Amino acid sequence: MIGIARALADVRDRIARAARAAGREPGSVKLVAVSKTKPAAAVREAYAAGQRAFGENYAQELEQKARELADLPDIEWHFIGHLQTNKAKLIARAAHVVHTVDSAVLARELGKRLRALGRTIPVLVEVNIGAEPQKHGAPPAELAAVLAAVRAEPELSLRGLMTMPPADELDTARRVFETLVTLRNLHGGAAVLPELSMGMTGDLEVAIAAGSTMVRVGTAIFGARATSASA
Ligand SMILES: *Cc1c(COP(=O)(O)O)cnc(C)c1O
Repeated sequence: MIGIARALADVRDRIARAARAAGREPGSVKLVAVSKTKPAAAVREAYAAGQRAFGENYAQELEQKARELADLPDIEWHFIGHLQTNKAKLIARAAHVVHTVDSAVLARELGKRLRALGRTIPVLVEVNIGAEPQKHGAPPAELAAVLAAVRAEPELSLRGLMTMPPADELDTARRVFETLVTLRNLHGGAAVLPELSMGMTGDLEVAIAAGSTMVRVGTAIFGARATSASA
């Protein structure tokens, strides 16, 4: 098992190579280190190696790690899991970026909770491109309505779209990522939706080739997770 600093350097290298291969600047792709199920000590180790953005899937876990690591001043917590409206208050308090707004109801609830705290945060709208019933995300047909609901909340700064392909299959992933780009173009283009959150350990090169600006990488940095925790 290689150390976290070395693993991070390897992932940064993969990102840089993929960006250059696509004729893009390596700096145009942000790395979000997905620390779900991993201890605060692992996050601290990654932070010491220069990593600042961390992704969490569970509201309580994010809040707890944020509290344990409150001494790290410029750490950035990205919420990337399914957000239930009853957890919106907690996330409004603890997260710096939310990747997974997927309904008008959730946009309104998150806006209300942020308003009460006097905070504004960047958000992305998650799209369910595979349209599988068990997955979260707005169906493409509802994207316009969700985007409108986000725009109606002054505390939500709309930054882009997020998706997660259904399986570990590169051709499917490529198709899903390209569909997200098409949807972005249908809904205002890069001028209004500059960020595309797509790509994980197994498919980050494919995502960067398609135009990803944020890759969410867990396993390649922190090692395998003990239980399958992909909610
Ligand atoms: C767990 C998770 C990741 C990271 O996946 P890895 O394959 O470990 O890199 C990225 N995005 C979401 C939404 C996740 O739940």
